[in-house]
Formats: sequence, C-alpha cells, structure tokens
Amino acid sequence: MKKRFLCVLLALLLLTGCARTQKPVEFTSFAMDTVMSFTLYGGEEDTGVLRLRIPEELGTLEGLVSAVREDSDVSRINRGAGQAVKVDPATARLLARAWELCEITDGALDITAYPAVKTWGFTTGEYRVPAEGELAELAERIDYTAVKLEGNSVTLPAGMELDLGAVAKGYAGDVLAETARANGLTSALLDLGQSTIMAVGTKPGGKPWRIGIVDPAQPGSYFAVVELTGMAMGTSGGYQRYFERDGEVWWHILDPKTAAPARSGLASVTVVSPSALACDGLSTALFVMGLEAGARFWRDHPELQFDAVFVTEEGEIYRTAGLEGCFSLAEGYEDREVTVLE
Ligand code: AMP
Ligand code: MG
Repeated sequence: MKKRFLCVLLALLLLTGCARTQKPVEFTSFAMDTVMSFTLYGGEEDTGVLRLRIPEELGTLEGLVSAVREDSDVSRINRGAGQAVKVDPATARLLARAWELCEITDGALDITAYPAVKTWGFTTGEYRVPAEGELAELAERIDYTAVKLEGNSVTLPAGMELDLGAVAKGYAGDVLAETARANGLTSALLDLGQSTIMAVGTKPGGKPWRIGIVDPAQPGSYFAVVELTGMAMGTSGGYQRYFERDGEVWWHILDPKTAAPARSGLASVTVVSPSALACDGLSTALFVMGLEAGARFWRDHPELQFDAVFVTEEGEIYRTAGLEGCFSLAEGYEDREVTVLE
C-alpha cells in the first residue's frame, strides 16, 4: 500500500515537473491584415505538424474570405451582380453562421457593410467623412437579408458587397482550435490579432489561461483579466481603428442603419464564449447596440452561451453575472467600480 502511494506520488511529481519545464512552440503569422501569435504546448511531433498546418490553414481561409483579394470567394460574390456564385464549403459555412448572427442581432451585425466601410476609407487608409445624402444612399445598400445562400451557392444583388471583417478572425479561431485538438493538443493559445483569442484547454499545469482586456482609454494597458479554459474572447472597440477629422473621432464599427460609425455610448465590448466566431460577431454587434440593448440581448439569449464586459465612453465598467469567479480587475485598476448585470 505504502509502496503504491509512493509510486503515485513520484508519478505526480514527475508530471508536474514536466509541466513546469515544458517549453511551448511559439510563432507568428501575418494573415487577415494582422499579426497572429500562437503558443502551443505538446509533443514535438504534434506541435511540429501544427507549426506548418496553422499558417497553411490561415492562408487558405484568407484566400476564400478576403474582400481585397480579387480571386477570393467573397470578391467573386461581390462581383456577382445578382448571379449565383459557387463557393468553397468553408466559405458557405462561415457565411451561414455569420448570417444567423446578423439575424439574431436584428442587423446590428450586418455582413453587407462593405460599400460603406470602403467609402469611409477603412480599407485603404484614405479616410473621409461622407456627406449625409451619401450616407443615406450607402445605408440603403446594407441589408444582409438580401444575401441568398443555397448550399454552396451565394447570390448578392448588384451594388451590394460582403465584408466578413467582423467575423473572419473568430471563424479562423474556431477552425484552428479544432485542428489543434484533432492533433492531440490540450494546451494552446491562439491569438488571432486585434483582440480575438482562443484558449485551447488550460495552461500546461492545468490552470486557466489569463487574458487581459485592453483599457479603451489607454490601449497600452489592460484594465481587467479574464480566466479562460477552452473558451474564446473577443473585443471590439473604437480605439482599434479610427481617424480624426475636425476634432471628431470616427471609428471602423458602423451602425448599419446609418452607415456611419456607431455612437452607442460604448468604448469597447468584450465577449467570452466557447465559439470564437460568436465572440467576434457578437462583440461587434453589441458595440452597435450599446449598453442597454446589449444587456437586454444577453438576458434574452442564454442559448448563445456568452458573457460580456462593456466599457462606456465615460469609462464605466459593466460585466454580466456569468463571469463571476473568472473576471478580476488588473493591477492599477483595483479601485474601479464594476457593475454586475444580472
Ligand atoms: P470587429 O473589429 O470585429 O468589431 O469588426 C469590425 C470590422 O467589420 C470593420 O473593420 C468593418 O470591416 C466591418 N464592420 C463594421 N461595422 C460592421 C457591422 N455593423 N457589422 C458587420 N461588419 C461591420
Ligand atoms: Mg467582430
């Protein structure tokens, strides 16, 4: 009996010792207009395979959904002018799931915002503030309900264009997490850039991953930390991409109703959920909705299995009740008040 106890103890010591000394495989990849970083723990063979496969899969996905690459599925759909366009099954899957998010958020997320995104200059950096009449005309052309999906065929009316910028990184997170798990990994951090993160399993020692949320008023600092195990987190905020003109700030998240930057009183929204696609799409949508409608949406949709952290333009912090025990204020922010939404 005593001998068996000693064996178990030795095995445990060896295991925890291994975990402590295990070195991750770390690398970055440039895709979807951002730097993505990967931290993989596991056997040499598995991590070696993934070191090659992850950039490959990202390249393939980007080749399908990029709105700027002429030969992508999305560009072909955008040139389709009312004709059905055959796309890769992966594009069709992403479109179907993104469309559902547009529908459930009542169009706060809208995958047809591209003409407006381009007009504001967010695709080229040549920014301008369109006149009111032009905005009204652009808003008319934003309507996800006009996108018709039938199997792997997509039809979009002339004059309309898709932009999957609000959901593509999240989708990539889900796809890559699946690949990592299929290759036997139980511990990996997939940082898809611009505040979209997928935590596969736990840290090597079995503790949750600790991920910071950027302070929108000071994007170099984190105001809070969320503990994640097998979950994703995504933040949308005005601070992520914007320009200033005549003393006003204009950011890249547009209200589909007006085709202008969404001014809902929020500075950022963070969403935590098992699906990175849901985090990405919902954080954009909740930013458009604002605090009150966003909190109502959270209460009305328990089936979406998400929690959220809202920061208002005044710097007030709100979080949903489901984050109890895994949300804490970061060093230097301990005295900030956090209102819990029930
Ligand atoms: P995210 O950074 O995930 O919040 O997504 C913002 C990006 O999605 C923008 O850069 C635009 O390309 C696009 N976009 C902006 N507003 C919306 C919207 N309301 N719905 C869907 N996509 C949007
Ligand atoms: Mg998003």
